[in-house]
Amino acid sequence: MATEQKNSVPLLDLQAQYEPIKDVVLAAITDVFESKQFIQGPKVLELERMMVDYCQVNHAIGVSSGTDALVLALMGLGIGSGDEVITTPFTFFATAGAIHRVGATPVFVDIDPNTYIIDVTKIEDAISPHTKAIMPVHLFGQMADMTTIMAIAKAHQLYVIEDAAQAIGATQHYEGVARPAGSIGDVGCFSFFPSKNLGCCGDGGLVTAQDAVLADKIRLLRTHGAQQKYYHDYVGGNFRLDPIQAAVLAVKLPYLNDQHEGRRRNAQVYNARIQTAQCPIEKHGNYMIYNQYTIRTDRRDDLIAHLIQRDIGHAIYYPLSLHLQKCFAHLGYQPGDFPESERASHAVLSLPIYAELTPHQLDAVVDAVNSFV
Ligand SMILES: *Cc1c(COP(=O)(O)O)cnc(C)c1O
Repeated sequence: MATEQKNSVPLLDLQAQYEPIKDVVLAAITDVFESKQFIQGPKVLELERMMVDYCQVNHAIGVSSGTDALVLALMGLGIGSGDEVITTPFTFFATAGAIHRVGATPVFVDIDPNTYIIDVTKIEDAISPHTKAIMPVHLFGQMADMTTIMAIAKAHQLYVIEDAAQAIGATQHYEGVARPAGSIGDVGCFSFFPSKNLGCCGDGGLVTAQDAVLADKIRLLRTHGAQQKYYHDYVGGNFRLDPIQAAVLAVKLPYLNDQHEGRRRNAQVYNARIQTAQCPIEKHGNYMIYNQYTIRTDRRDDLIAHLIQRDIGHAIYYPLSLHLQKCFAHLGYQPGDFPESERASHAVLSLPIYAELTPHQLDAVVDAVNSFV
C-alpha cells in the first residue's frame, strides 16, 4: 500500500503551481477588495495590456470564459442565423456549442490522425454559399495549419476565428516568423479555466483582435452593447472578466513561459521513453505548449484499468465526436461521417504533463504505461 501511494500521480496538481506564488496571488486579490473595483477597472485593463504584448495582437478584451469568448467573436463578426461555420468535431463542446448558440450551423471537417487537428485538405469541400467563417481549434496546445487556413479564407472571403483556448503562447512559423496563437486570424479566443496552461481561480477568458472596429464592437457586446450606460447599440450580454480573476492572471502570466518549458521537458521524457503507445507529434515549425499530453492506443480500456491500479491520473479528451452528440442529431450526421475523429475518440488518452511533475513521478508514469502489455 505504501509504495502505491508513493507512486501516485494526479492528472494535474494545482497546489504545486500555487504554493511558490501564494503570497503574491493573495496580495493581488486583497488589492481588488481594497479598491472595491469589483466590475471591470484597472486590474482588467492591466491584464488586457499584458495580453496584447504576450499574444502580439493589437487588441485584447477580457471576458467571462473561453466559451463566451467564442460566442462574442461570432457575434462581433455578425455571424448568426442562416450562416455556416466550418470547424472540427474533435474538440471541447464549446467550440460547436458557441456556433449553435448564435443561431449558425457548425459544419464539421475531419481531423488529421497524427495531430487530431482539423485536416486542412478537407476544408474546401465543406465550403458552401452560406459559409461565413472557419473556426480552427489549436488542440492540445498545438496550432492548426494557419498558412493553409488563411489562404483558403482569403480565396473564399471567410473570417477566421482561432479557438486558442488550449494554446496560449503556442507559436507557429507563419509568413517567415514565429507567430503566437490568436494573432493570425480575425479573432482569437482564450480560456483561463483552471486546467488551461494559464488558469485563474474560477472562470475567465479573453478575445484578441487585430481590427480596431471589430475590437470596439466586441468590447461593447461584452456589456450589453452599450457605449453609454442604458443606451444600447447592440444586444450583447454580460460577458465581463472578473477583476479578481484578472488580478490573479496578471500575477501568473510572467511565469507562463517557464510553465510551457516545464511541460515541454516532460513531454521529451515521455516521447523518448514511452514504448507501448503512439506519442504526440509536434509538427515542424510549431512550438507546442502541451495543454494535454495525449497518447494513442487501440487497447485503451486495458491501459486505463492498469493506470487506475497504479493510481496514475489520466483523462479522455474527447470520448464522443461532436457530430454524434445528441444535441446535434438535427444536423443529420451519421457514424462513419468523420472516421478519423471517431477513431481518435476511442483511442486517445491524456497523461499528467504539468510542469511541477518530479523526476520520480515521471518515472512512475512511464513505468506504468510501459509495463502494460
Ligand atoms: C476550455 C475550452 C473552451 C472553453 O473554455 P471555458 O473557459 O471552459 O468556457 C473552448 N474551446 C476549447 C478547445 C477548450 O479547450
